[in-house]
Amino acid sequence: MAHFRIRCSKCGAILEDTYCAFCEHCKDSLLITEYEDRQLRISDNKEGIWRFNWLPVHDADFSQPAPLVYKSEALASFTGMKNLYIAFNGYWPERGALVKTCTFKEYEAAVVMQNARENGVAGLVVASAGNTARAFVHLSAVSAFPAVVVVPRMCLLEMWYLVEPVNVPTVAVSDGDYSDAIDVARRISTAMGMPFEGGVKNIAKRDALGVVLLEAVQVMGRMPDHYFQAVGSGTGAIGVWEMAERLVIDGRYGSRPPRLHLSQNLPFAPMVKAWQRSSREIDREDLDPGLINEITTRVLSNRYPAYSVMGGVYDALKSTEGMMYGITNTEVYMAMKVFESTEGIDIVPAAGVAVASLFKALKDGEINRDDMVLLNITGGGEKRVEREIGTFIAEPVFISRSITDSEIEAILCDHLKTDS
Ligand SMILES: [Zn+2]
Repeated sequence: MAHFRIRCSKCGAILEDTYCAFCEHCKDSLLITEYEDRQLRISDNKEGIWRFNWLPVHDADFSQPAPLVYKSEALASFTGMKNLYIAFNGYWPERGALVKTCTFKEYEAAVVMQNARENGVAGLVVASAGNTARAFVHLSAVSAFPAVVVVPRMCLLEMWYLVEPVNVPTVAVSDGDYSDAIDVARRISTAMGMPFEGGVKNIAKRDALGVVLLEAVQVMGRMPDHYFQAVGSGTGAIGVWEMAERLVIDGRYGSRPPRLHLSQNLPFAPMVKAWQRSSREIDREDLDPGLINEITTRVLSNRYPAYSVMGGVYDALKSTEGMMYGITNTEVYMAMKVFESTEGIDIVPAAGVAVASLFKALKDGEINRDDMVLLNITGGGEKRVEREIGTFIAEPVFISRSITDSEIEAILCDHLKTDS
């Protein structure tokens, strides 16, 4: 029997047989997972993220390490904070952090693939600005679940693979950005009869990213007052907010969700700009692809963020009296340096955006120095992986965004054949 149901967050309808869908009546609101068990439970005989009962999967037969959450001493003392907790998602073996792709998207890939498998799906097409694709490639190998990943050429540097057997076709869109990669991925999905992973609509994706908060409350004893994260699509922040709402119902971890402090890299910061105008709508001007060339964090370059959709980032911010911060490249580099020299581990630029937003919040008096704060370091430890495990850069099949459907079929059939 299923331990969860899928419910429309707008009309309340319970939906059957829905894989990555919107409610057929409402169209524009996110579906959410309603778990039978209203209490968070941690299984003693399971490991990693599979310990938590609030995931839309049954029995995964592959392992997936969980986030490392710990109380900061060095960065806390640098900032004068008393209760700073860090969720570190990456590779830092002596501390027990074993996420080798160095991104929190690994949880997403693991849960999405397991959930798809349990839904009778034979394989997935994934579009990504880099880190998600890397996570799906890794998990495709670990869990033996087929995937095709599509990335924009400008994000190829993010597409390093771990040295392990990979048999996952990677397609790079040579003349487009992340949004073009999504368009191409949708067309590949139709041509190959393999579902598209569904983006923010996929409940498995959001619940998986919410695991960060589940792990955090084990260490903190309660929900944080404030939660800091850099956002590209916003899926991770929505996932954390949804988990917080479940924890409120559980009742043992506090009576209100943390205030969300979300950040983006200037000048490409469409959600920051919309929020500053108090608008649910993102301005077209703020989605100008030219701006993407100016930011250091390509993984945050999503031009289809889950901001306006009902139950999305705008609603999460509204409901938690949240804040958004625009962070310059200079501030990102500075924050990365401070983090590495205090905590002793390297972090990715997107995590640097979150660290810089924490500095800003302290300076502006948005948080107090003794508040309980959770800082999500969404990726880190790449230098360690490079040194100790080894990586290589993906060799993709390059295609143009104006490729025809029959060309897609020819290229992919060819590629799949030569690979298998
Ligand atoms: Zn509905």
